[in-house]
Amino acid sequence: MRFTHETLPQRVVFAPNDAARAISDEVARLHAEHVMIITDPSSAALADALTDRLPVAHVHDEVVMHVPVEVADRAREAATKSRADALVSIGGGSATGLAKAVALTTGLPVVAVPTTYAGSEATNVWGLTRGTTKTTGVDARVLPRAIVYDASLLRTLPVELSVASGLNALAHCVDAMWGPYADPIDRALAEEAIRGLGQGLPRITADPAGLAGHEQTLYGAYLAAVAFASAGSGLHHKICHVLGGMFDLPHAQTHAVVLPHVLALNAPHAPEAERRIATALTSPTALAGLAALRARLDAPTALKDYGMPEDGIAKAVEPILAIAPANNPAPLTPDHLTALLRAAWEGDLPR
Ligand code: NAD
Repeated sequence: MRFTHETLPQRVVFAPNDAARAISDEVARLHAEHVMIITDPSSAALADALTDRLPVAHVHDEVVMHVPVEVADRAREAATKSRADALVSIGGGSATGLAKAVALTTGLPVVAVPTTYAGSEATNVWGLTRGTTKTTGVDARVLPRAIVYDASLLRTLPVELSVASGLNALAHCVDAMWGPYADPIDRALAEEAIRGLGQGLPRITADPAGLAGHEQTLYGAYLAAVAFASAGSGLHHKICHVLGGMFDLPHAQTHAVVLPHVLALNAPHAPEAERRIATALTSPTALAGLAALRARLDAPTALKDYGMPEDGIAKAVEPILAIAPANNPAPLTPDHLTALLRAAWEGDLPR
């Protein structure tokens, strides 16, 4: 065992039914006096209720998935104009992503309050989109100083989105098993994360209004993101990154659809990942465990249902191969990738 693992510095507060107090405590720790809130319009009322104890200088509600550069520029201007000295993001990965874009150029500290299972709040990865090209990077400035997880905020997430977003978190775990910098700590965290997600998600579909399923899934989603941030993007994330940017596909659903196909390709070449995923899902094999979970959750199956054109399969192959990690467990040829993308497009699940 010879490896170097870097742990990211961040406060993580789990505060069920208590987000307003926890956010106020975290902002006080930053000694902030002009707070800019970043939230999408559908969460504006929630954000108002959660931040009424804060010195709010501005509420910014222009949030767009994948953070177009023009949207980031307008948010950065608003931060300067309102003399913001801290950012509080309330929402899914898109709201967190916009706060990160502002932090990237201003250095402002972020308190993230997630309302999905995307996990962006626990990574130092930023993303910006110019036209159809999404660029990502790693920078310490974008890592939120604190996360406030309040599972009660996720009870309003429609069940299909909970499922897709939870499977996005599961994809962080699976890719963390073989990402370019994956180490034994990442794999241990990812295995425990899969356990949390595998138990939490069916509880959400059985009782969407209950707190327990959301709590367990949030715990899994946080661990998943920590493992992923350390291991780096594996093949799964590279595929989704290219498809999302090229065809403007919804993030969580794209991950949910592609995941079984990448697992089917890589698992036979990655025995430790295979064993850990199967164990965490209490199944004889990793793929059977994922298939059983997906069936219970009625998970999304086909990229064609989310707006990807059929000729997109051929268009995506080269850009994906160009960024596919050299250490991917399975060999990857244009033919393998074409077959994988066609199956994901059709909804032809691997057996
Ligand atoms: P999102 O933030 O766009 O949210 C999806 C939809 O759900 C939106 O319409 C939103 O209004 C709604 N919503 C969110 N929370 C809700 C709630 N509690 N109740 C009801 N509706 C709610 O989608 P996402 O999947 O959370 O995030 C996707 C974005 O995050 C992508 O741009 C992706 O690239 C980024 N991301 C980044 C990282 C990273 O490490 N940098 C990791 C994961 C995702």
